[in-house]
Amino acid sequence: MDEREEKEAQLAALAAHVRACTRCPLSATRKHAVPGEGPVDASLMFIGEGPGANEDRTGRPFVGNAGQFLEELLATIGLTREDVFITNIVKCRPPNNRDPLPNEIDACKPYLGHQLKIIDPEIIVTLGRFAMERWLPDKRITRVHGQSFRYGRRLIVPMFHPAAALRNPEWRTFLEEDFLRLPEIIEEARAMREAPPDEETFSAEQPRLL
Ligand code: SF4
Repeated sequence: MDEREEKEAQLAALAAHVRACTRCPLSATRKHAVPGEGPVDASLMFIGEGPGANEDRTGRPFVGNAGQFLEELLATIGLTREDVFITNIVKCRPPNNRDPLPNEIDACKPYLGHQLKIIDPEIIVTLGRFAMERWLPDKRITRVHGQSFRYGRRLIVPMFHPAAALRNPEWRTFLEEDFLRLPEIIEEARAMREAPPDEETFSAEQPRLL
């Protein structure tokens, strides 16, 4: 088994754990857990808030209107959903699409942690406030959307959630503009990884605005 196959097997085993997980009360109301999907060597990872009704029904992330919009946004920079890894902060649907609760986010945190370790993306695009708060708890999305923050060996780029942007024309424009900046940020991230390691690269505790 080569390294890629080994990582794919780890990711599949993790997804199986998620599908059987009962670590928080959301397990009682979900139809299907939604571990996430995409290539194991994706350099770009999109992290939303949690599954909605369509995702809960199918077990796949971002398959409703927000998912279609995300695919349109990816197309504006020459990417498809098969090029990126897509997942959520909580892997099971909160009832009636309510916000995920702190205990649910905490319970689900290790799964995302393992996914990040296996995939090791260069860039994490957080979609919406809940995903942003994992790395940038003191920031406001209205102020920092589209900016890149260095966090260890990767860049964190907060953006509005596509579902919220579909309801708010101003946020939609922001999201479309932020996506158009992504190719430049991808280059930044590649250059950062290729640069000789410095102390800050491996020890950054706090994100730093680039
Ligand atoms: S949301 Fe996460 S922690 Fe809660 S049951 Fe689903 S997979 Fe487990």
